[in-house]
Amino acid sequence: MTHGREEHLWIPESDLEGMSVDTLAVRAGQIRTGQLEHSDAIFPTSSFVYGSAAQAAARFGGEEPGNIYSRFTNPTVQAFEARIAAMEGGEKAVATASGMAAILSTCMALLQSGDHVICSRGVFGTTNVLFQKYMARFGVQTTFVSLTDMDEWRSAVRPETRMLFIETPSNPLCEVADLEQLSALAKANDALFVVDNCFCTPVLQRPLEQGADLVIHSATKYLDGQGRCVGGVVVGPARYLDEVYGFLRSAGPTMSPFNAWVFQKGLETLPIRMRAHCDNALELALWLESQPAVERVYYAGLESHPQHALAKKQQSGFGGVLSFELKGGREEAWRFIDSTRMISITANLGDVKTTITHPATTTHGRLSPEDKARAGITENLVRLSVGIEAIDDLKTDLERGFQALKD
Ligand SMILES: *Cc1c(COP(=O)(O)O)cnc(C)c1O
Repeated sequence: MTHGREEHLWIPESDLEGMSVDTLAVRAGQIRTGQLEHSDAIFPTSSFVYGSAAQAAARFGGEEPGNIYSRFTNPTVQAFEARIAAMEGGEKAVATASGMAAILSTCMALLQSGDHVICSRGVFGTTNVLFQKYMARFGVQTTFVSLTDMDEWRSAVRPETRMLFIETPSNPLCEVADLEQLSALAKANDALFVVDNCFCTPVLQRPLEQGADLVIHSATKYLDGQGRCVGGVVVGPARYLDEVYGFLRSAGPTMSPFNAWVFQKGLETLPIRMRAHCDNALELALWLESQPAVERVYYAGLESHPQHALAKKQQSGFGGVLSFELKGGREEAWRFIDSTRMISITANLGDVKTTITHPATTTHGRLSPEDKARAGITENLVRLSVGIEAIDDLKTDLERGFQALKD
């Protein structure tokens, strides 16, 4: 009698039920070939072959499941999709060429001309452009409202409102939206509630369990976490994801197998990376708050943060992004940034390497002065995406900035 597991070349989905996100990150969605490799194989192929003309016909006709062409499906991409779907607690996931392609595909698949979107004001700059410039051209109007002001959300609702779109916590001021209240508002108005979960990842927040209809990621950020690839993903119930898949199959912004493989491996370390990001960010936020040259620190992990209690309820950690205002203006902020030596000066975030940026002249530079003021993007604001370096080395580097302000 054998006790082998040769029948179980991968873990059956039923075994994954009830497993923690830490386990799902390394075990969900693995496929194994006949080589029984322990790591994940990669399938860099554009198309697939059939055993016969009849089988080709059955695949094309949809009577037999299986791969046809990598714009439709690819085993490496499916492995990544299955893993992130399990981690977010979603029925299905569809991977895309970038985070923006994930947002675009969601809109193209689920909205039509005449529909109305309500979007939080602090979203990623390009998301704002997508809604304001491009979706508007196709007859989809968007109203931008404050992430945290429920009265603004309620009064923005129109009969044709079909989607509420948010990022929480927001970038760079770490405002936190009330998922429960927004989900209730969406349901009451028959609108989709879409959450860009880039900043928390499923390790810290699972919006689908808190009433969201769809979760979107820029996989480019924490999911990879090491700055190697651009990618995105949409997660949610099959009834919406089948539509998103249909758009992708026809329009083509699919994820490449190589990128999917990198993201698949990236997810394995996501839980421990997120904990390290959170620990470092909280410690730095507290330390920055005690610096005489700092006027104010924005981080939901601080008790001084207006939505600290809400963040504690919705999230299992406060994330790796924080920002702070220095005493002074642009001159002081730039001098501070330029005086660091290790921390990377870049607008990217979610990397194991700490990054520093001046939002008013980079990520939010396109906003008009009035929009900047309304969004709270001041000239003395500095944003950090806190990495996983040793906390003392990060403090030493930031100390150079404080020293330069004294000189
Ligand atoms: C970067 C980012 C995006 C866009 O993702 P890309 O992968 O760069 O296309 C969308 N949302 C948020 C919150 C982001 O940080």
